[in-house]
Formats: sequence, C-alpha cells, structure tokens
Amino acid sequence: MALHVVRHPLVEDALAALRDRRTASEEFRRLAHRLSLLVVAEATRDLPTVEEEVETPLEVTKVRRLGRRVVAVPVLRAGLGMLDAFLEIVPSAQVGHYGLERDERTAVARRYYEKVPADLGDAVVYLLDPMLATGGSAAHAMEGLNGVGGRTVRLLSIVAAPEGVAYLERTIPDAEVYTAALDRALNDRKFILPGLGDFGDRLFGT
Ligand code: URA
Repeated sequence: MALHVVRHPLVEDALAALRDRRTASEEFRRLAHRLSLLVVAEATRDLPTVEEEVETPLEVTKVRRLGRRVVAVPVLRAGLGMLDAFLEIVPSAQVGHYGLERDERTAVARRYYEKVPADLGDAVVYLLDPMLATGGSAAHAMEGLNGVGGRTVRLLSIVAAPEGVAYLERTIPDAEVYTAALDRALNDRKFILPGLGDFGDRLFGT
C-alpha cells in the first residue's frame, strides 16, 4: 500500500490550529479547507496531461491540459469539509456521494447512501474522508467504489491512525492513501490520538 504523508510547513501550521480544542467551527472549516488544498495538490501531482494548442495574444503555443477524468467522492458527512477545496483545484471533477455511519458502540461502518457517476473505470476516484481511524469506513467505501467499476481509488484524509493504515494494508493492498498527518494510535472509543476530536461535529458545530 502507498502511504503519502504530506510534509509542508503550511500543513503543520494549519494542523496545529485544527487540533486545538478552542478552534470554533467557522475557523475549523477554513483550516480544513486550507489543509485539503495542500493534500489535494499532492494527490493530483501525477495526473496525466494531454498536449493542446492555444493562441495567446501573441502566438500559437502548445499547452497541456488535464488528461484524465477525475471523480471526487466525499464520505458523508465529514468528507464534505474537503470537497470545496477539491473542486477549487480540480473544477472539472465529477462528484459522487457516499454515506457511511459509524456505530458509536462497535465503530463498525454501515452504508446508508451511495450515488456516484457511472462508468468509473476510466476515472481517478478520490475518496474524501478526513479521519482514517480503524480503516473500516475507508475500506468499506473503497471496496464499494471498486464494486461499481472504480479501478483507481485514492483515499484523501487529514489525520490517519496507524491502525487504519495497517487495516487498509491488509484489506486493500494496492490502496493509495494521502494524509496530512499520521498520528499515534486509537483510543478505546476508536478516536485518533492526539487527533482533533470528531471532525464532523467540529466542522458543522453539532
Ligand atoms: N472520526 C473522527 O471524526 N475522529 C476520530 O478521531 C476518529 C474518527
């Protein structure tokens, strides 16, 4: 499995404030957006381009344009916190939605909604799920997207736990994961330590 931890001083700086329990939702959203921009930039670095010609005000020149279909699939609801940043960087991306609910007691994921573009086979699919905790939800969604034709599915997260990474390594050995931070461990309630708490609650102020 390929794990990419995005190393950048601006990632560190935004993460510092995102982790801070005193950071309120309004600021949390802005920080999540900024961090997502940096993660998305890294995760799209190797997308293929195709050559075209454009006419500048002075002459005709060769240019390169994005040469691959891109689909973003936020995992509801926390993944929505990464979507605007994704679309800012890849405005042509199609968007699917994947609804997963984590049982508070068992931490097992259950799908309650799925709507993704057809024919995912030729697309690079980016699953947006900010907290890679046990890996159960991510594996569930990645397998689900593979099941509807997704061949290249990349997970974009903001904070990952070693347990989640290990789980994906076992269940989806060819998974590609991009994250802003690899944290220490999960606690007994399957929250990431040191983490930042419940991403969805902090994002939406619930
Ligand atoms: N989901 C969250 O929002 N936070 C965690 O720490 C783990 C899962």
